[in-house]
Amino acid sequence: MTDLIVVGSGAAGLIASIVAARAGQNVTVLEQNAKIGKKILVSGNGKCNITNRYITTNRFHGHNPDFIEKSLENHGFQVVETFFTSIGLALVEGKEGKIFPLSLQASTVVELLEYEAKRAGVQILCDSAVTSLTKNTDTFTVETEQGSHTCHKLLLASGSPAAPQLGGSNSGYAFATKMGHTLIPRQPSLVQLCSEESWVKGCRGVKISGLAKLYANGEYITEKKGDLLFTDYGISGLAILDLSREASIRLANFDYCELRLDLMPALSKEKLSNLLLNRINSGSEKPIALWLQGILHKKLIPVILEQSKCKAREENKLDRKEINKLVHSIKNLKLSISDTKGFEGAEVSTGGINTEEVNPLTMESDLVPNLYFAGEILDVDGDRGGFNFHFAWVSGMRAGKNV
Ligand SMILES: Cc1cc2nc3c(=O)[nH]c(=O)nc-3n(C[C@H](O)[C@H](O)[C@H](O)COP(=O)(O)OP(=O)(O)OC[C@H]3O[C@@H](n4cnc5c(N)ncnc54)[C@H](O)[C@@H]3O)c2cc1C
Repeated sequence: MTDLIVVGSGAAGLIASIVAARAGQNVTVLEQNAKIGKKILVSGNGKCNITNRYITTNRFHGHNPDFIEKSLENHGFQVVETFFTSIGLALVEGKEGKIFPLSLQASTVVELLEYEAKRAGVQILCDSAVTSLTKNTDTFTVETEQGSHTCHKLLLASGSPAAPQLGGSNSGYAFATKMGHTLIPRQPSLVQLCSEESWVKGCRGVKISGLAKLYANGEYITEKKGDLLFTDYGISGLAILDLSREASIRLANFDYCELRLDLMPALSKEKLSNLLLNRINSGSEKPIALWLQGILHKKLIPVILEQSKCKAREENKLDRKEINKLVHSIKNLKLSISDTKGFEGAEVSTGGINTEEVNPLTMESDLVPNLYFAGEILDVDGDRGGFNFHFAWVSGMRAGKNV
């Protein structure tokens, strides 16, 4: 009989198991993958953006803001910093408060967590997919393909369906709903967006620093600045990942989603108009497409000309009206969005276990005594920038401490 079984060896499960074992609990972690911490290993492009110096509740999302607020209370950056320092991980700060291991190697994080877990006496069993869970009077029976386990307390830290290639799975939801919990619908987030517009394919590989504005059914929703990367299927880049949560939810609601891309956010309309007008003064008869090459990526020019309906064919035929049309298109290039790249492309999932049914200070279920949750299985997701790991660490710590 084990004191605590943890399902999942991701960020939440590993930290919870260490905290619980350090407090004297006998802990077993069951992991379906052959290796622990697969998402940690690939995170932050292999560097692992472990947390963020600026933890504020508005960087986290879910249907129950009260849960988010309480669970993060006194569990900001410093708690995570102290924990990682205690296991020997030096940290370094990047842009926008992003925190990384000083080694800039995600594998360091996993190896130190694994070492610390084993040192604290945690038993980690890989290739052990949990196939069923039963709640008995005072215990849980946990079935895996390898055999059966019994425990007093159970922590579901089995993550979300995001990135199934790394172990993303729905299984935790199935176990929890069988025990009476309810689920807030999940949608892919921090995900690339698809478009059926044919011009996009022609622009694949073009990467610019721009501003993406999201509209749903013609109504402005949000905007994000950053990289825009045109691809075979649509559009990616950091600005797109950052607004994908809103797009994903709107698309699931069958709203018509459209991006309006400002390809030159650094220049106001006036400045861009003046830049273009000043360029006409030479009186050259250069074709417009060639003339625009001085300021725009070559592959984007036909799209701008098409969307602006610019009639002039030569530089010296451009008048103020035609310039205005060009400027409008450069700052509002329209791209209709048909879908997201789904959970396969997503870093995280929105929704999850309804947090109205979970104690935010202990992570224990309000419905099933001795059942705990931590990490992305819960209806909490964060912005890009270390916020998702942050929630996994702190909810795991709370659960580990309270079991
Ligand atoms: C490519 C990528 C890059 C990312 N980069 C960052 C980043 O830099 N910073 C950041 O903050 N966030 C990042 N994230 C998000 C972050 O990885 C997740 O939010 C975080 O891993 C969630 O931790 P978790 O422990 O809740 O779940 P997970 O890490 O998903 O762990 C759950 C574990 O449970 C296991 N499991 C599931 N079902 C079962 C079962 N039935 N039996 C046994 N085991 C099971 C899974 O195999 C998995 O190992 C990234 C995600 C991806 C996909």
